Amino acid sequence: MKLHEYQSKQIFAKYGIPIPKGRVAATASEARAIAEELGGRVVIKSQVLVGGRGKAGGIKLAKNPQEAEELATQILGIEIKGLPVRKVLVDEAANISKEIYLGITNDRAARKPVMMCSAAGGVEIEEVARQTPEKIIKIHIDPLLGLRDYQARNIAAAIDLPRDHWRTFSVIANGLWLAYCDCDATLAEINPLVITGDNHLLALDGKMLIDDNALFRHSDLAEMRDLDAEVTSEIEARKYGLSFIKLDGSIGCMVNGAGLAMTTMDIIKLFGGEPANFLDIGGGAGSDKVAAAMRIILADANVKAVLFNIFGGITRCDEVARGVLAAMEDVKPKVPMVVRLVGTNAEEGRKLLANANMITAETLADAAKKAVAAAKGG
Ligand code: GDP
Ligand code: MN
Repeated sequence: MKLHEYQSKQIFAKYGIPIPKGRVAATASEARAIAEELGGRVVIKSQVLVGGRGKAGGIKLAKNPQEAEELATQILGIEIKGLPVRKVLVDEAANISKEIYLGITNDRAARKPVMMCSAAGGVEIEEVARQTPEKIIKIHIDPLLGLRDYQARNIAAAIDLPRDHWRTFSVIANGLWLAYCDCDATLAEINPLVITGDNHLLALDGKMLIDDNALFRHSDLAEMRDLDAEVTSEIEARKYGLSFIKLDGSIGCMVNGAGLAMTTMDIIKLFGGEPANFLDIGGGAGSDKVAAAMRIILADANVKAVLFNIFGGITRCDEVARGVLAAMEDVKPKVPMVVRLVGTNAEEGRKLLANANMITAETLADAAKKAVAAAKGG
């Protein structure tokens, strides 16, 4: 789950990271009021969950409250990369003398968090990573020891940060690390972290990704979820406790178990097809859940065939069959459906589906071949 800039920066501030004064506004007149409160120049920043807002015209400097109101009106009316701007952050404008990148993410290969830093921060950081990766310093953090002070100093030295900023930089780096851990983040990033005209370090932007699987222990963060940035089918699936990810292929997949779901997708590809989704209906899914999953899969216009791969264990095949039948009455699917049921109560399940006009398969390979052929109109 992604957090907005203003949400990330509020978290950063709790960890001692200096951020500009400012507040978020949903209307242009609110933006004006905040600008009046702050006095002086402000920056109006669209709060949408995509990167590159600056380049897309979603970040503008205003000289006075009047201009703040005008720019807020403008920005609140646009879409950035398909997302509507519903809020703007009105921050005290900073004079920038240098832009630094500082971020933490998981390095899966190293099985450790990694802190990344570059003196070439700002809106071109992706370009820097591509063209001159050596300009990005990386330091792995031992999760048991945490970020050590010498590591923060090594980073400061490596990016040629002037000495007088080292102490604050350590506080910021450590704050970012603690925020990353405490929030169960998979990314915590400040880009740019600037040296201001009056020679202070200040986090001008903030970005955090929170691990969805940890949200059960962060109800405060879970509430921050912005549904604008999410695919409708995924929101719907979450309501029913389904693990669902929308993909671009033409074969809908209904599977129990994450590993089996991945295998099913692989086998579809092996036989020349493309999965339309990842779906794990979970262990012990009842007919309600199955029906919901069916509706979600069939709502996708790209879906030309559906493959059911159910390995009955805790999940009973007859339960799944009942869910399928319930959903079929509801949605009247027009696409062919291939079903492979094995395990607990498979026989009962097959009997239930016998009259439902479904293509049956004995093995997974057989099922995948049939689904690929069906999707291609064969
Ligand atoms: P992003 O484009 O979505 O990453 O949004 P950022 O918040 O990083 O802003 C993009 C760029 O706008 C920054 O790299 C800065 O160069 C500039 N910017 C943001 N805030 C200020 C500010 O307060 N003053 C000035 N002068 N520039 C700013
Ligand atoms: Mn940025």
